[in-house]
Amino acid sequence: MADLEEVLRKHALKNAQEHGKAQVKAVVGRVLAEVPDAKKNMKEVISKANEIVGEVNRMSKEQIEEALKSYTFVEKKEEKHGLRLPEAEKGKVVTRFPPEPSGYPHIGHAKAAFLDYEAARQFDGKFILRIDDTNPEKESEEYVKAIEEGLKWLGIEWNEESYVSDSMLKLYDYAERLIETRDAYVCTCEQEKIRAKRAAGMGCKCREREAHENRKLWDALLKNSSGAKGILRFRGDMDSLNTAMRDPALFRIIKKRHFRQHFKYHLWPLYDFEAPIMDSLEGVTHAMRTKEYELRDELYYAILHALNLRKPLLVEFSRLQIKNAPVSKRLLNPLIEKHKVKGWDDPRLPTLAALKRRGIQPDAIRTFVLSFGLGKAESEPGWEALLVENRKLLDPKAQRLFFVPSPVKLVVKNALVREVELKSHPTNEKLGTRKLAASDEFHLAELDADDLKAGEVFRLKDLINVRLEKKSKGLLEGTIAGEEPMPKRKVQWVSKGALKASVLVPGDLLVDGEYNEKSLQVDKGLVEPSAKGLEQGAIVQFERYGFCKLDDKSKMQFIFTNP
Ligand code: ATP
Ligand code: MG
Repeated sequence: MADLEEVLRKHALKNAQEHGKAQVKAVVGRVLAEVPDAKKNMKEVISKANEIVGEVNRMSKEQIEEALKSYTFVEKKEEKHGLRLPEAEKGKVVTRFPPEPSGYPHIGHAKAAFLDYEAARQFDGKFILRIDDTNPEKESEEYVKAIEEGLKWLGIEWNEESYVSDSMLKLYDYAERLIETRDAYVCTCEQEKIRAKRAAGMGCKCREREAHENRKLWDALLKNSSGAKGILRFRGDMDSLNTAMRDPALFRIIKKRHFRQHFKYHLWPLYDFEAPIMDSLEGVTHAMRTKEYELRDELYYAILHALNLRKPLLVEFSRLQIKNAPVSKRLLNPLIEKHKVKGWDDPRLPTLAALKRRGIQPDAIRTFVLSFGLGKAESEPGWEALLVENRKLLDPKAQRLFFVPSPVKLVVKNALVREVELKSHPTNEKLGTRKLAASDEFHLAELDADDLKAGEVFRLKDLINVRLEKKSKGLLEGTIAGEEPMPKRKVQWVSKGALKASVLVPGDLLVDGEYNEKSLQVDKGLVEPSAKGLEQGAIVQFERYGFCKLDDKSKMQFIFTNP
């Protein structure tokens, strides 16, 4: 319901801005258009609308303008017009997201998953989560859990979940059909030899074997007979300019415990074989994948053609890359293995676990990744656009607090010992107020202290004006100055009861493709005493510093979320 209130507030503010006063009926109308589900709770919607419209109508024009800044009304192009999915029919679209559980999901997976999920939703279709688990060497249950949790956190729901490894017997059956029709053969050549011949566009003698001989070799592989070795290859086209068509491998032996099937199988299919078959069998209509697979489209259709199976439509989109971030398991996994980062949720990582821990909102990720749509144009954005989205979501609900990084002491002679009550948010009344006690001793941020000049009058934000009398290393001395005129410079401060706090500030993990040794900075400082009341995981805005999430309350350790 908290979200509903935000939507109500947004439209009440907009309505008031447009017409001077907001009207309950108009506001409710717009809210229902945005959140159709709210219809189920009309009583509550109307009562809340009355309350919020009342609040908004008591605000000044300036306050309304200010409050509106934190909301967004312009819908993203793709959002408004939907995804441009070719040949899509209402009620008939089936999509799937097929991650391999060989690592934690990252923001690139979020893009693929959202495209699949939203395409299905847009056309009232079905969305399948398919765990692509056919390489026991790389995969684990932990990663399956991480994928499921990541998607749930993003708000992505699947209608069905399947595991490719549950279809092994079917896949063997299809392999045998290919053997029968001489579309596949067992190759017993050495890896090196196969590679060299493929590159040269030459077939080997295995290619010439009859179907019944291949069947015998295949059976030996399946039975794991002693000495049986080889791989199953597709009989493609050795002359093809498309190297993907030069007799690619379909099955290979991996003798390792599988997290789900244990030791049941040792002959495992490759992606190029199982992906088209699973898509076809599961009824997928639109099989989306990233552009780098384009060269393998021909193979995808050749396998389905040879098996006489229904052909889904392949839809390609660009892979999400983010500047100086390892948005790929190939880059991520080594950072974990070499302990360059402190786990999968290290705040510098682009994994969903890390983004969550850092305070990035799932809706910001959704808007960000969908803004690229189904386009194939390659780009390498930075984090900025995501952070802008995130800020819009946090700004209306994050409590404001004073935090002073690298504190420098300020003594104000004759400062009356006093207490101020400050709003926790400039416009969101729900966040209430907090009390701040002041004595004649304060701390300011070093950056502010460095800037101040002797003789200058500045304001301790929301408290008093101070004239800086003396500045020496590590100590500022001042006296109280009059309330008029209001000085331009306003600085955050802490005084009585301030608490030690630190902020982990994640930076670019890679620079020129190499690990950046300075990717994690720590800002140490003092935070106002009301931080004691924050719950672990709370996201606040430290004034003139940025949004931060309380990561470890016992240490008063925050993570920098957003500027
Ligand atoms: P990685 O390089 O991270 O191992 P992958 O493609 O091997 O990537 P999978 O788990 O097989 O990882 O991916 C599942 C799906 O997610 C695939 O359809 C893949 O195209 C898509 N995907 C993976 N990384 C990205 C990315 N950076 N941008 C968009 N889609 C991605
Ligand atoms: Mg992969």
